[in-house]
Amino acid sequence: MSAHRDQDIDLCAGYALGCLDTADRERVEEHLASGCPMCQAALAEFSDASVLLAASAPLAQPGPALRQRVLAAVAAPGIREPEPPAEQVREPVDTRGRVIELRPRRAPFFTAGWGWAAAAALLALVTALEWTQAARLRGELESNRLRLADLERRLADESRWSEVLNAPAAKVVYLAPTGKGSSELRARATYDPVSRRAVVVFENVRAPQGSDYQLWAIVGGAPASLGVVKADAAGHAMMRLENLGEPKLLAAFAISLEPAGGSPNPNAPSGPVVMLGKLEG
Ligand SMILES: [Zn+2]
Repeated sequence: MSAHRDQDIDLCAGYALGCLDTADRERVEEHLASGCPMCQAALAEFSDASVLLAASAPLAQPGPALRQRVLAAVAAPGIREPEPPAEQVREPVDTRGRVIELRPRRAPFFTAGWGWAAAAALLALVTALEWTQAARLRGELESNRLRLADLERRLADESRWSEVLNAPAAKVVYLAPTGKGSSELRARATYDPVSRRAVVVFENVRAPQGSDYQLWAIVGGAPASLGVVKADAAGHAMMRLENLGEPKLLAAFAISLEPAGGSPNPNAPSGPVVMLGKLEG
């Protein structure tokens, strides 16, 4: 395949409109024949009658190559202002004794030939701009599609977790202070034994400097870490917990006060248990 150059897109626009000179036409035909996918796609779009709609869209900057071609077309000797036709510059004639002076009509600046060349060049410009704009719009559409997919995924995730809170079999456990820590810390766990998931909400999470609260499940009589509680500046936190195991083995939730980062042993708190909430039944 002959290498694709940026100006080939402009050439394709001109080619679709049939306004290329021989050298350019041969260049683009050879390039298209070599199978450049970009130029083939561009040519297909340029050939579409809908490009005329581009005239109503805001214009972007034309490519430098296209601008140069338009300017060259204007300056080309073949389309300079022609001599006025002879019959329009004839001398005044005497008709039935009256002298009627026929002034030469001003030759139109745009001859028919130049008009077509200008229209073709303008259409090539608009077509190339349309193509650029369509590519940009396709990019925006794709990024919007991705954003929408992300929002849908997050919404599905939210609704999946809200099902835990609304599950008919859900159990709500308010953890109670054990007397070994803060009395203002609040924690409420909602556990759905059917999906085996839980949502734990915390308030007034203000661990002393250099320490963290850590949540535990008491499963089959042994503690298992559910992670360090990460609160926002207002002291609110929420933890969403997947698969808490066999419901019959889950006996309680507990919170311990640990060195920053949590207990080094995921199966045993290293600090005092400050809150505890047992699951009924
Ligand atoms: Zn190409």
